[in-house]
Amino acid sequence: MNEVTTIDRTQREYSDAVKKALARKPQLYINGEWVDSSGDQTIDVEDPSTGKVISSFVEATDKDIDRAVAAARAAFDDRRWRGMPPVAREKIMHKIADLIEANADELAELEAIDVGKPKGMAAVVDVPGAAAHFRYMAGWAGKAGGETQSPYSMPDGMMFAYTLKEPVGVCAQIVPWNFPLLMGCLKIAPVLASGCTTILKPAEQTSLTALRLADLIHEAGVPAGVVNIVTGYGHTGGDRLVKHPDVDKVAFTGSTEIGKLINRNATDTLKHVTLELGGKSPVVVMPDVDVAETAPGVSQAIFFNSGQVCVAGSRLYAHKSVFDKVVEGMAETKDFWAPRASLDPEGHMGPLVSAEQHERVLGYIDAGKRDGASVLMGGDVPSSDGGYYVNPTILTDVNPQMSVVREEIFGPVVVAQRFEDLDEVVKDANDTQYGLAAGVWTKDVAAAHKIAARLQAGTVWVNCHAMIDPALPFGGYKESGVGHEQGRLGLEAYFETKSVIMKL
Ligand code: ADP
Repeated sequence: MNEVTTIDRTQREYSDAVKKALARKPQLYINGEWVDSSGDQTIDVEDPSTGKVISSFVEATDKDIDRAVAAARAAFDDRRWRGMPPVAREKIMHKIADLIEANADELAELEAIDVGKPKGMAAVVDVPGAAAHFRYMAGWAGKAGGETQSPYSMPDGMMFAYTLKEPVGVCAQIVPWNFPLLMGCLKIAPVLASGCTTILKPAEQTSLTALRLADLIHEAGVPAGVVNIVTGYGHTGGDRLVKHPDVDKVAFTGSTEIGKLINRNATDTLKHVTLELGGKSPVVVMPDVDVAETAPGVSQAIFFNSGQVCVAGSRLYAHKSVFDKVVEGMAETKDFWAPRASLDPEGHMGPLVSAEQHERVLGYIDAGKRDGASVLMGGDVPSSDGGYYVNPTILTDVNPQMSVVREEIFGPVVVAQRFEDLDEVVKDANDTQYGLAAGVWTKDVAAAHKIAARLQAGTVWVNCHAMIDPALPFGGYKESGVGHEQGRLGLEAYFETKSVIMKL
């Protein structure tokens, strides 16, 4: 378990396509064209593998935001998108997916150098996932509709009644920095399938792929004003979007703290709101598991994307009969997860996204140590010439009062605890403000179903983790969210339902 000192964390040279994307003029995509900001402020783009500034993008002004909302409003009100035959909208959505696939290599590299995630990971998770959201939702463009319904209190044949599914209107969609392209596509796809229009704001740390996505959406033939992409800070541009009287719905993914603020801010105008927020997801390992399979699986549950995942399996509960073997098995994955520069083809884990996040995660590790936790693995920073690396970390000897057990760290840090019986572990697993996801590892099918039913979480995985699919609804219990994304439920969040009742 010695520190891996032999890894060269120098970043590789960027491809020509990426250099071109980095050199683009900072502009906003509004009403189907690239436009200058009304102001002159920009935000720097850093490569987290080096800490160096590599590009910049616009910090949108209030005027820019208003311009984007006006474009989305006009595009919704004149029905240029919702009025198109669903088959035409479906085709355009597939075309966006085709273009994402055609530009997959560039998008994976851009995502890697913007977020710090390994390019190889972005190529198999983020980019195909982004295309899949458009393909899945494209199918709904022509299939979602209302139904006829006989009234309950009136004689048969007296009335003809039916429901219409109508797009909710102009959407403001705000996404975080951990899966920028995937989250952007996950947000825009139901907008296009339902006939809404949108203003998407990526996170201030990671806006590169959203800007490239605007090019692809344009090329695919989405009419002007239907999708607008604006960059900038949350407390300025994001806030203006959330409070804007011409916005009908807010869809947000990010921290619980900001989600609560957004919910409050959207209340004055009673906007529709869906929130996908934080988590502190428990992973329960039962005594019957095959440790050789489970240890790498529960390691991946926390170390994938450097633990910067809302569903990260950050609280491990292993039965006391297997606890030592499971954590030893996890410690054996140390070299596999050793952080490397994002363009290193050998890498499975990169740096954290920013200096701020680096400091925050190390702060939590220090707090854990001060509170009496033991560091079984990691807990420190590897050697590098710049960049925001943290070694994958396992903390043991923890208790439920510690901040490392209660709070979302959003880094490669797992707290491992023993349990003796099922009631105890279910109680401990549910002892959190969050309810986003949970995992169970067992060969006992009945136990898996029983535990899945008792865990307070929007998603429960059995013998796997973080398997997310466009067809399956995703949403949080408790303070992890409001509403759902993905699947039919995710589409429904973009509809109003109208009842039409006619006397015959
Ligand atoms: P994280 O903690 O993961 O950085 P945040 O919740 O702070 O996530 O941010 C997620 C997204 O929300 C980003 O796009 C950010 O710009 C935006 N945001 C932050 N604060 C606000 C706000 N007050 N109103 C609207 N959007 C915001």
